Amino acid sequence: MKTNLWGMGLEELTVWVRNNNWPSFRAKQICDYLYKRHIISFDEMKQLPQIMRTWLEENACVEKPVIVNQISADDGKTTKILLKLKDGSLVETVCMHHEYGNSVCISTQVGCAMGCIFCASTQKGLFRNLSSEEMLAQLFAFSEVFNMPIHSIVLMGAGEPLQNYNHVIRFLHMANDKNLLNISYRNITVSTCGIVPQIYKLADEGLPITLAISLHAPNDVIRNELLPISRNYKIEDVIRAARYYFTKTKRRVTFEYILIQGKNTDKENAEELCRLVGKLPCHFNLIPVNGTEHIHLYPPDIKEIRSFQKILMDHGKETTVRKQMGDEIQAACGQLKRRFLENSKSVFR
Ligand code: SF4
Repeated sequence: MKTNLWGMGLEELTVWVRNNNWPSFRAKQICDYLYKRHIISFDEMKQLPQIMRTWLEENACVEKPVIVNQISADDGKTTKILLKLKDGSLVETVCMHHEYGNSVCISTQVGCAMGCIFCASTQKGLFRNLSSEEMLAQLFAFSEVFNMPIHSIVLMGAGEPLQNYNHVIRFLHMANDKNLLNISYRNITVSTCGIVPQIYKLADEGLPITLAISLHAPNDVIRNELLPISRNYKIEDVIRAARYYFTKTKRRVTFEYILIQGKNTDKENAEELCRLVGKLPCHFNLIPVNGTEHIHLYPPDIKEIRSFQKILMDHGKETTVRKQMGDEIQAACGQLKRRFLENSKSVFR
């Protein structure tokens, strides 16, 4: 069976090259071809001797997901792609082109088991975890398409990253590897809907990444309605885990709070939220829900959003309201995939 070189870092490639009786320095050349020059055909790796190129053709391959759909919107400020994986599964990835650089939001699973009521990705449940190589390919799809450096990464697409823990940690190391993408850990955000034991585990990894916790409610009653997984973890335990994360990493935690009209946006909700987090250094990211034809939830009006934000800020909480970049390209997770499947009548998952 051929060895797939895609996703191997320099260390791994060096071991593989040496074990196959080639000089170690050839690994660095292959690494540069794959990740810096985006060349995946062995025949085009002209720095390698012909004999090695022929041997590679017979013994190795570079298998990467392929882009099957691509949409750009917001005057080119947002781009979304749909990638087809080897087994036919589809994953979505979004790139937001900010003034400070490109930020890529990647998926970590095909589907999702968490069941958040505002999310399209979970409607058919979880199909499988993505490998770290498949996550890496999502980033490279963008650096190849736009030929632009990636400034930051958020693991906030389809899937619950902390349920795919080992692959996610390996992926973070790959993204940070100076021979691959060289992205600072400080520019990486991992989002979770609050898998408490895994938050402690992540804190103990000692990586200076940002943790974003989908809180979405000030108490268990509302949270259980919005995020079924929260029935397993009390909201106080989530906050305790967030405190531990801050103590270990000195990184301020971000709380994601989706604003849904009639559910979690009144004055009492905001006050209760402030009492819940207390003095924990944190940032609130308020996200007006992105209703779709399949998800009948609506954002509050701008007045209500501002008054919710003001209460948090009056309590000293740093708060931003997320601009809904990508609305016109169906950026809520799972929607590009849904549209593609509806149109293609294909066998894709
Ligand atoms: S919001 Fe995230 S965790 Fe919740 S169902 Fe969607 S993909 Fe899963």
